[in-house]
Amino acid sequence: MYIGFDIGGTNIKYGLFHEDKLIEFKTIKTSDGEILKAMKSVISKYENIKGIGIAAAGLVNYNDEVVFSPNINEFRNVNFKKVFEKYCKNVKAINDVNAMALCELKYGYGRNYKNFIVLAIGTGVGGAVVINRKLYLGTNGFAGELGHVKISLKGRRCRCGRIGCLESFVGRRYVLERLPSNVDMIDVYLYAKRGNKFYLNVLKKISKYLSIAIANFVNILDPEAVILSGGVANDIILKFTKEYLENEKIYRSIDILLSNFKDKAGVIGAVINILHPEYIL
Ligand SMILES: [Zn+2]
Repeated sequence: MYIGFDIGGTNIKYGLFHEDKLIEFKTIKTSDGEILKAMKSVISKYENIKGIGIAAAGLVNYNDEVVFSPNINEFRNVNFKKVFEKYCKNVKAINDVNAMALCELKYGYGRNYKNFIVLAIGTGVGGAVVINRKLYLGTNGFAGELGHVKISLKGRRCRCGRIGCLESFVGRRYVLERLPSNVDMIDVYLYAKRGNKFYLNVLKKISKYLSIAIANFVNILDPEAVILSGGVANDIILKFTKEYLENEKIYRSIDILLSNFKDKAGVIGAVINILHPEYIL
């Protein structure tokens, strides 16, 4: 049996796999500072673990170490191999959106493309770059941090320390900061779906920023498709983003899609990362 983890800021998702088939999936609430403890308590419930795959929000290097995470303080220089070695020797970690891209590549829209990017818009904004059907991780393993590409000289400071990052315009926490305190992203979506102008405008703004960023990525990478995912992405944003992209002068047609995987892509990708190293460039 393999265990796949997907670690975000507010919860831990994990899946149990028989080879690469997901047989059980769970989400548990946790808080920053308690994450590794919660993971250990999950792992210690099971015997005969053949591998532990971890998808972590943050910069994950080739040594299975998360060195920095803008949204999780506990993830500073944590080597998952060392932390979990007494439970299992076969431990592999990867950035959470890179894991999602592995899932898209093997099971999702990514099956149809050679070159594509994934843009995951949630608490933070992450990305992944697939070139010739392989995930590109770069020199240190940190490639694809598309949320921290600068799209403005002004704005509030991003959690990474810079000003003007895409994340600081479209990430959940930054969007919600400007809205009444009882409103969550799902409310924004539902109000907009019913035609509420104010909330439609909130989604339009997000889409405008996304289209600018996507045009930048297209100019660098010339992908065939961009797959949007994460809790902030939805069909309204997809529609507006496509419209705004028409004005961004990219001089080619490109598919913009909404991922079909709700919340399981990270754990599935974490285990693909153990079982299918051929997908890594
Ligand atoms: Zn940033």
